[in-house]
Amino acid sequence: MAVSLVPELGIRNNTYYYHTSDGYYFHKYKEVGNASYYRCTTGTCDARGILRSHSRDFELRYGHNHCPCPEFIEYMRQRRHLIIEAGTMTDSDAMQLFSPDRNFPFQHELTLESLRTSIQRERLSNVPEEPISIPLLNDILAQPLFQSVLCSISDGNEPLYKGSRRSNDGTTVILLMSGRCSEVLKAVPSLYAFTLTLPIKDTPSNFQIHVIGTLLDGYSVPLAFLLLERDTSLAYTCGLSLLRDKITAWNFRSVVVSCNDNNIRDSYRQVFAINIDISLDHYILEIGKLVKNLLPMEKLNELETMHFLQLCVGLPMVPQNLLECAINVLKTEIFKRADDVLRHIFGLILLNIEMRWIRCPIKGPMFSASGNREKTSDAMETLKGTIMNHIPYAGTGLYTYLRAVRRIEGASGETLTKMRTAQRSTQRRYSLSEDAEIVALTNILIRFFGDFATPLQNLMKVVATKRWHVFLKSQQ
Ligand SMILES: [Zn+2]
Repeated sequence: MAVSLVPELGIRNNTYYYHTSDGYYFHKYKEVGNASYYRCTTGTCDARGILRSHSRDFELRYGHNHCPCPEFIEYMRQRRHLIIEAGTMTDSDAMQLFSPDRNFPFQHELTLESLRTSIQRERLSNVPEEPISIPLLNDILAQPLFQSVLCSISDGNEPLYKGSRRSNDGTTVILLMSGRCSEVLKAVPSLYAFTLTLPIKDTPSNFQIHVIGTLLDGYSVPLAFLLLERDTSLAYTCGLSLLRDKITAWNFRSVVVSCNDNNIRDSYRQVFAINIDISLDHYILEIGKLVKNLLPMEKLNELETMHFLQLCVGLPMVPQNLLECAINVLKTEIFKRADDVLRHIFGLILLNIEMRWIRCPIKGPMFSASGNREKTSDAMETLKGTIMNHIPYAGTGLYTYLRAVRRIEGASGETLTKMRTAQRSTQRRYSLSEDAEIVALTNILIRFFGDFATPLQNLMKVVATKRWHVFLKSQQ
């Protein structure tokens, strides 16, 4: 008598298992020529079957080593039903679905816990296609189900998504932050913030990630992220207001902002009523622009030029009370060693530094990074390094950036835990480079500034990395 094979739908679309209505079940594992090959779904069983396309007869090879299980089909249907249902719900709704009161078949075997992996996979398959703008991403993240799948902290169910706002210019800002990081953000005395502009895959558009972090015991810890559709002043004010409303209280009195954009600083001032410190990046970028405008190309790679530039770039690390003296030393050095062209140009650069950064009543007090503040440049560089380790370089989709934010938050969470338990963190800690160039620079400074060289040594490692930024920027 011919035995015909009946397909049954598996969990995922287009997946099947098969049976011959006798309580035994098979997976198809290969097709060769006109024949399909099947093996028993019980892993320890040797039973195999063949179905040839010209015949409808299922040929069984080797017997089963176990009893038939007539209820398996019903079990699988129930399992499939629960997974598909729960795949459209958040965990708390799914708990209702699995409630014992509902008295569904196989309820002892089919629990939320036992099906969790399959349910999570089902939810992922329900996630909408990758959005191509921040407002579209927000539409998706505003749904609790997708928050839990796309944007929860890596080691728990808490969604990082803390809401969004439309700014007065009509653009959307999203806030991502975990509870543990928001507690730290409230408590720390100072923040560091910078913005990355990132391309969105398959579109001509960019968006911005504004990262807010702090420095704890030498470790840079990113804490909160604003995703901005556009980096306008209104958008920053709107995003920072959302952050303020979420944390409600804070202890930080200053934030170091690394960027050229006055908008961001004004927004911080407006929303949190705090001091804004300018990072060394900002200062160096300005010197870079001056260099670009003033310095002839052929002078740029000269040893003397580099030497003077490094010293200019290092000025913010000189203690406030020694600034005047440091500038005089620099002037003398330039006067003694530079040719007429360089003397003229560095005269202008130093004049600009004095006017814009030292004598300027607004910027003046912010100039020294070594004063009684933390070394802002180090912190900023370290924070950026931490972020850049995780952010994909090329244009990827918004989901990929979201995964990067989750990884960064996860690393911050680990650092916080390890600090509590006094272990070493895996996150980036600024370490003194043994670069020969830095050692040489430090020696120059010791000669220049005598006893005051020690705080400057830390600067020099920054300067060494920075000067490439200066040259790169100035040559653009
Ligand atoms: Zn079997």
